[in-house]
Amino acid sequence: DVISTNGVLFEDMKLKRELLMGIYEAGFEKPSPIQSEAIPAALKNLDILARAKNGTGKTAAFSIPILQKINTRQKHIQAVILLPTRELALQTSQVVRTLGKHLNVQVMVTTGGTSLKDDILRLHETVHIIVATPGRAVDLASRKLADLSKCSILAMDEADKLLSADFASVVKDLLQFMTDKRQIMLFSATFPVAVKDFVSNYLSKPKIINLMDELTLKGITQYYAFVEEKEKLRCLNTLFSKLQINQSIIFCNSATRVELLAQKITELGYSCFYSHAKMPQADRNSVFHEFRNGGTRNLVCSDLLTRGIDIQAVNVVINFDFPKSAETYLHRIGRSGRFGHLGLAINLISWQDRFNLYRIEQELGTEIKPIPTDIDINLY
Ligand code: ADP
Ligand code: MG
Repeated sequence: DVISTNGVLFEDMKLKRELLMGIYEAGFEKPSPIQSEAIPAALKNLDILARAKNGTGKTAAFSIPILQKINTRQKHIQAVILLPTRELALQTSQVVRTLGKHLNVQVMVTTGGTSLKDDILRLHETVHIIVATPGRAVDLASRKLADLSKCSILAMDEADKLLSADFASVVKDLLQFMTDKRQIMLFSATFPVAVKDFVSNYLSKPKIINLMDELTLKGITQYYAFVEEKEKLRCLNTLFSKLQINQSIIFCNSATRVELLAQKITELGYSCFYSHAKMPQADRNSVFHEFRNGGTRNLVCSDLLTRGIDIQAVNVVINFDFPKSAETYLHRIGRSGRFGHLGLAINLISWQDRFNLYRIEQELGTEIKPIPTDIDINLY
């Protein structure tokens, strides 16, 4: 059980009463393991490098100490929280707002693809915490719209993504606008080598928390089916008729294939939404929102949704296209087993994917079994 810890309580953490209220109102009874390790360390102003699997409550692990440390009598920006995608920035800002509901902390969320004018207006009022994607954060800082000179906390969620080639230099740029006396917290489920350089150059004596010893794909039954490309749709149709799907996410490897598949699924008579990186941001947001509210059973998407998105009702994930890397696989599949819920993952494997299937299975030390002809629906 990912939330049971050795008796540590939120009460033991000397948190403000108003913050405790927000935590309990959010329905958190006890800290999860990552929270009971990270929150006390963060409250001591230590730099943090924390790794824990998906669905274990990383968001609150950095949000709670940040909220505790904000001094609401001061009006300046005191913390920046970075996320690699717009969806995650929105989701995270909601968590911060919920937890901080009874504190007088002002949270601003901003991402690329939204109006800079709105940000300018917003920044005329008090902002204590900015939740943003890196590009927009640097944009605001370099145009002197956001003053980060007294901002002393930087939290990065999905940190490995934020420090990958596409983002790392932007993050380093951002640090230049912040005070040197700062605390940096990195959270992720995966930490490739790229992060090591950043850690040794920018973090000082970080508290390293690694909770990845638990089975990362625990509770998720993983199957594969060998299917020729042109038989994939028929196979999907069969799965739909056999499985007890609460909500499902179906992954394709490109925007074009997402749209095509969504159309075919609709033609088959199943309701579905789709989302991919080439869609306008507003559409992506509303699709995500609708899906989360149960507006449809199925969502077809590309990898933009794979990281850390938390939708509890999803019990089936289908890789219509098999991913290229073990990391992507983890991020896609990890979704269905969040917070102890069981999940089912089904991989459609074309001839070309076989090598990848075995490699990823090996790399993750997991077992992906051939799909039985009669799936036991009690398994997920
Ligand atoms: P991660 O970022 O590690 O993948 P999230 O922060 O998205 O995980 O949290 C996953 C789910 O767990 C969310 O629905 C969140 O509300 C819930 N959660 C987080 N902390 C707790 C807690 N202490 N007790 C109960 N539920 C929690
Ligand atoms: Mg997360």
